[in-house]
Amino acid sequence: MSFFQPQFVTETAAVRVRFGPGVRHEVAEEIRRLGARRALVLSTPHQSSSALALAEDVGPLATGIFSSAAMHTPVEVTEKAVAHAREVGADCLVAIGGGSTTGLGKAIAYRTDLPQIVVPTTYAGSEATPILGQTENARKTTLSDARVRPEVILYDAELVASLPVSMTVTSALNAIAHAAEGLYAKDRNPLSSVMAVEGMRAFASALPRVMAAPEDLDARGETLYGAWLCGTVLGQVGMALHHKLCHTLGGSFGLSHAETHAVILPHAIGFNAGAVPDLLAPVAEIFGGPNSATDPGAALHAFAGSLNAPLTLAELGMAEADLDRAADIATQNAYWNPAPLDRDGIRRLLDDAFHGRAPSTSGRVPG
Ligand code: NAD
Repeated sequence: MSFFQPQFVTETAAVRVRFGPGVRHEVAEEIRRLGARRALVLSTPHQSSSALALAEDVGPLATGIFSSAAMHTPVEVTEKAVAHAREVGADCLVAIGGGSTTGLGKAIAYRTDLPQIVVPTTYAGSEATPILGQTENARKTTLSDARVRPEVILYDAELVASLPVSMTVTSALNAIAHAAEGLYAKDRNPLSSVMAVEGMRAFASALPRVMAAPEDLDARGETLYGAWLCGTVLGQVGMALHHKLCHTLGGSFGLSHAETHAVILPHAIGFNAGAVPDLLAPVAEIFGGPNSATDPGAALHAFAGSLNAPLTLAELGMAEADLDRAADIATQNAYWNPAPLDRDGIRRLLDDAFHGRAPSTSGRVPG
């Protein structure tokens, strides 16, 4: 299959990416390479021991640790972190953790323009994007800015080897969602489509091996490779129904980020499948098998089920009584999506996702 397009625009950012088990031990070299001397190490409270180990490894080039990163990047946490960075005279940031810690580093960089080194420990992919989501007064807003994009990413399979299997699966489906929606993005380009397909293929190949042996470093390395590719797609092209719905469910109903992506993905892709069957064909092939005539939504549903991923909004703590309000919020603001968005269709999608039914195969024509 060719991803050639007769017209497209693409921009590639200058990001240094290093892969390899143990590569986190190269942080000091990367700090020096940036011309920096005083790194502030960031983490969540849960991963403060990883931040401490990294700071010890870096030695005199680490000037401090800030371990209060939190989900959805609250502005009050960022302000404390910026004050701390100024107090210790930090001239670069090193974030070790998932999307929440990366988000804090990006929020500090947005305000200070400090360079960032990110050492990811989940598959969320935030390290590869210029996007920053922040929360203030219980409202989440998103911006895209070149200052926010990290300069260096170190992918170390040893760090994800300890990611619990349930988080591994939901975080991977979060990454796969970037790639699946990237395939039909209005501003897609041949390179983003190639990366999307290769990213999904990497997860489809490696995840079953990770399930069988969570500490298999080859398989973990391949999942990180998938995360990098899928995250890069997210950083290059616009997202649609799936990401908007997850944003609504996370922002307005407090559902956890990666699990929400895991539950919604097969339904959102099923919803769009009828409008862009050719663009989504790789999803069906990758997750449903080479000779599969399966619908891409059904293939993702079966794949998620085979990994014991959560399949219902009910098990994430969503109340059935909130589904109407969720459908209202999700259809309040118009945005581009390959299939036309109607409130009743979204309400049905949410109902299927709430109960864990197989996704409906949509016959919708392009929007
Ligand atoms: P997270 O960073 O919130 O991590 C969840 C919990 O797991 C945290 O307590 C964390 O410390 C812990 N954890 C992380 N890695 C671990 C490991 N290897 N072993 C054990 N525990 C580990 O979760 P996430 O899903 O990576 O990130 C979610 C956040 O990232 C959301 O706020 C989301 O909006 C944001 N995000 C942003 C972008 C972007 O481009 N801006 C992209 C994807 C996600």
